[in-house]
Amino acid sequence: MKIETVRTHLLQHRLAQPFHSAFSTFRARWACLVEITCDDGTTGWGECLGPAGPNAATVAAMAELLVGRDPLAIEPLWLDIYNQFRDQGQRGLTMTAQSGIDIALWDIAGRHFGVPVHVLLGGAHRLAVPAYATGGFPLEGRDAEAALREELAGYRARGFRAAKIKIGFGLDGDARRIAAAREVLGPDIALMIDANHGYDAIEAIALGNRVAEHGIGWFEEPVMPEHLAAYREVRAGQPIPVAGGETWHGRRAFADALAARAVDVLQPDVCGCGGITEMRKIVAMAETEGVRVVPHVWGTGVAIAAALQMLAVLPPSPPRHVPRAPLLEFDQTDNPFREAVLAAPFTLADGAVAVPAGPGLGIEIDRAALARFAPED
Ligand SMILES: [Mg+2]
Repeated sequence: MKIETVRTHLLQHRLAQPFHSAFSTFRARWACLVEITCDDGTTGWGECLGPAGPNAATVAAMAELLVGRDPLAIEPLWLDIYNQFRDQGQRGLTMTAQSGIDIALWDIAGRHFGVPVHVLLGGAHRLAVPAYATGGFPLEGRDAEAALREELAGYRARGFRAAKIKIGFGLDGDARRIAAAREVLGPDIALMIDANHGYDAIEAIALGNRVAEHGIGWFEEPVMPEHLAAYREVRAGQPIPVAGGETWHGRRAFADALAARAVDVLQPDVCGCGGITEMRKIVAMAETEGVRVVPHVWGTGVAIAAALQMLAVLPPSPPRHVPRAPLLEFDQTDNPFREAVLAAPFTLADGAVAVPAGPGLGIEIDRAALARFAPED
């Protein structure tokens, strides 16, 4: 079997209701899928986290290293790409592009051998993963607290047992929205907060101390991801566990974060950290250091499938009669690609999402949907 073509598919969806993170306003959703086809007709799919067009251009630049090669040589191919792009690479778009390629190669390997990726990775510890709802973004032109209350009541009604809201918009307003979120969710649904690095250490420590009484599961990206010492200060200065990792790429970046004891919860994104090949090494390092892993997920059904394959194999740590279950980040914002690109979209059942059991990533792509969401410009 040899790799014949490496293609990307860009998807675009204009949002009827734009929404804000701490530093950005989302007016459209974009995605970059990677499709690798082999000479025997086997096709694998992957996805790149981050800006779609630049990811596609980077994947195209990497394609010549892949065509004609054995797709089952996943580790050699990973290293060849990484080595060729090292001098201007190591992180950022080179790693997000490489992640999409790597996921597609694992999909091909699973389809070739007729088993799901989690079997190739050594076998599943679990075949369903409790999910938390990601949302709570302030909506443009709407009262932030009223919209939040309405949204969280919906998650509660649908059976979510955990939810994460966006903060990083100012201490007073954030504290009010966090209190409102806890009120709507009640005491039994886990609540996490994500500042998208909208604070510095002084502000993050002040906020953490102010809202800890609301029982917060974790405080995500309190400060800028480059500032590992500031992460440590936030951990030391307030009581909420600190999470981060969605913008760290490659095992070396995660090794630095682990060595710095920067986070309580590590959040690699399989579509950004270097793919399945690199993420399993990151997971092994985190387990070695006794740091929890809750993968970051932000993308289409392809990204969710890849994350679920990794979540299936996360080791129960610590081992005990009833191990702590990992969590799937299940984005609930307006993103039709989450469902539309898949012939059988992921659904929440009893607060959890099933790990796909079919070969490879365990998904089938709806090509008509790819055409429907082709970019306008
Ligand atoms: Mg985040």
